[in-house]
Amino acid sequence: MADISNSQIRDQLLDRRSKLEDALVSYPKDSQLLRLLDEVDAAVARVNEGTFGLCEACKEAIEPERLIADPLVHFCLDHMSPDQQRALELDLKMASQIQNELLPKHGFQVAGWETAYYYEGAGPVSGDYCDLLSHGDDLYFTVGDVSGKGVAASMLMAHLHATFRTLVSLELPLDQVMQRASSMFCQSTLSSHFATLVCGKADSSGEVEICNAGHNPPLLIQGTSIEEIHATGLPLGMFCDEQFSANTLRLAPGDTLLLYTDGLSEAQNTSGVEYGTERLFECVRTHRSLAPENLISLCVADLETFRSGGPKTDDLTLMVIKRLSRNP
Ligand SMILES: [Zn+2]
Repeated sequence: MADISNSQIRDQLLDRRSKLEDALVSYPKDSQLLRLLDEVDAAVARVNEGTFGLCEACKEAIEPERLIADPLVHFCLDHMSPDQQRALELDLKMASQIQNELLPKHGFQVAGWETAYYYEGAGPVSGDYCDLLSHGDDLYFTVGDVSGKGVAASMLMAHLHATFRTLVSLELPLDQVMQRASSMFCQSTLSSHFATLVCGKADSSGEVEICNAGHNPPLLIQGTSIEEIHATGLPLGMFCDEQFSANTLRLAPGDTLLLYTDGLSEAQNTSGVEYGTERLFECVRTHRSLAPENLISLCVADLETFRSGGPKTDDLTLMVIKRLSRNP
């Protein structure tokens, strides 16, 4: 994750200060507001002294994601008090629960389409974005990856979730959905943040429109053929006026799309070798005729076999969309 500049931090803190002062006009004796104002002033002083972002105990850099989530923190994780550590653990547990509630339900089916997904964060929360929803007879599916990891990335993931759900309900063409989402993401986040993402819309005739904004190419599996659907645009949120274009595919009954994040393709084993797309192709070719849920389980199992106890360093998402043999 890229650093944010001291002037951006100072601006954020001063903005927070003026909001607190506004609130104090209505509640002049509120002890919590007064304490927060002191903390903001102390943080501004640290920016001015050039010690912002350094732990007060060990003088080492504080974890950047924690600073972005809360610029008032002034101890690194190792030097928080037991009470502070417990409070942080509780916060993370609640964030993880909220994130799980944002996930689509398993076994989601829409007019002739069967779906399955697998979602696992490297830590308690994930920066991957995974959603399935229906609008009319259409199925919308998205898999994305927000830059960075941890709490800050998971907040941006929740932001994308709300943005897409709102835009889909407006019945805009897919390229417009992507353009608006990118512009909203760009305007509301720090310049260092962006998201790679695939968004698709599948209708009951088997037509699939798909936009790939700088994301790992989804696999289109038709019989023995496996084809990658390459990116047609830059990641979301890089620039506020990005344009996107959609590909149109036609899927016959039994045809399948597999979407994934780089937590799969770039996972490493204990020798530092990457899982890679060749192994993914092989796994998909072997199990291509299975139901979505089984195809995903076997891909995840193959990844575990490959990793053989190597550390999980990135968030992981897989999604499969399969056209059913017959409309229900
Ligand atoms: Zn420290």
